[in-house]
Amino acid sequence: MPADDRILAFHDDMTAWRRDIHAHPELGFEETRTSDLVAQKLEEFGVEVTRGVGKTGLVGRLRAGNSPRTIGLRADMDCLPILEANGFAHRSQHAGKMHACGHDGHTTMLLGAAKYLAATKNFDGTVHFIFQPAEEGLGGAQAMLDDGLFDRFPCDVIFGMHNRPGLAVGKFQIRPGPMMAGGGSFTITVTGVGAHGARPEAGVDPIVVGSQIASALQTIVSRNVRPVDTAVVSVTQFHAGHAFNVIPEKAVLGGTVRCFSEGVMSLIETNMRRIAESVAAGFGAKAELDFRALFPPLVNHDEPTQFIADCAIEVVGADNVNRNGPVTMASEDYAAMLKAVPGAYIQIGNGDGEGACEVHNPGYDFNDGALPFGASLFARLVEKRLERLAG
Ligand SMILES: [Zn+2]
Ligand SMILES: [Zn+2]
Repeated sequence: MPADDRILAFHDDMTAWRRDIHAHPELGFEETRTSDLVAQKLEEFGVEVTRGVGKTGLVGRLRAGNSPRTIGLRADMDCLPILEANGFAHRSQHAGKMHACGHDGHTTMLLGAAKYLAATKNFDGTVHFIFQPAEEGLGGAQAMLDDGLFDRFPCDVIFGMHNRPGLAVGKFQIRPGPMMAGGGSFTITVTGVGAHGARPEAGVDPIVVGSQIASALQTIVSRNVRPVDTAVVSVTQFHAGHAFNVIPEKAVLGGTVRCFSEGVMSLIETNMRRIAESVAAGFGAKAELDFRALFPPLVNHDEPTQFIADCAIEVVGADNVNRNGPVTMASEDYAAMLKAVPGAYIQIGNGDGEGACEVHNPGYDFNDGALPFGASLFARLVEKRLERLAG
């Protein structure tokens, strides 16, 4: 059986919800229409709703039986600041905003599971449906944690999933331990002395200094990080100057850092600060580093990882579940929740043909064919984890 029949029965409804959310994308912490829609559906299904957890986030609570066991299921709701290039009927109605990461699909799959579970209640315990705002770099997971998410809605274990373009619909992949990188961003402001472009001896050129810094930063990964650890340091911005004949006073560099442990992240920050400041000093300039660690690495806990893989096998069969999936240098905000409570994060196939368009691309769309698989897996997790005991 490819997905639960009772969930397949409302596949068309889920497709309609998904396309409605896709057409009305909202950026992080602005998900008012989306969270209204989610709250209204949950209440319609008979799920108790608490709004305003992490600003625009919300939590649905569904209880059956009297077991104290609890489980949390999490989806994200925000879109990206991208101008959608698609021409289909459900394309974004808001220029410059787009569901280009499939969070419309994630929200819908969790709503589908809630609808099924509220109707069948074939479990014993409490389910918390966690709808997170602002996954795309604005710290929505942390905002929910700061609002006491797991104190107010205790969860023994939590699960989340993200679509993966390039992986066929009906397939899942996961790995225990580190699966996605931790991420940070940085800004280096180099201050020299402005001068006439024809009289460099009168100034200290921040463009030359900034170039040396960008070059020297490349040695962090090659010379400071242990060869067995994985890290990326990319300078992605370099802004300076406005005129052909003026040596500017300042140059500003920016970029991103990715790695798999907090130790490596702080080693990178330390070396970056020393290199920027001392290279600048060597030229008589000044450099100031602003380093922002945004996401911790996403680390799957062993037992929940095996558990969700077992559940996925029950939904789609052993041939369609890869327990040793790839590591990615992308980051995920849900990692902050996994630091607070044991759990796992699985990838669900978005399609390998047309569905292979990468996330964060203006031509991307969530594949509605994946909806019943994701909803069935969420539902299976609850029924197996909170299994009703005989007698
Ligand atoms: Zn994304
Ligand atoms: Zn995403």
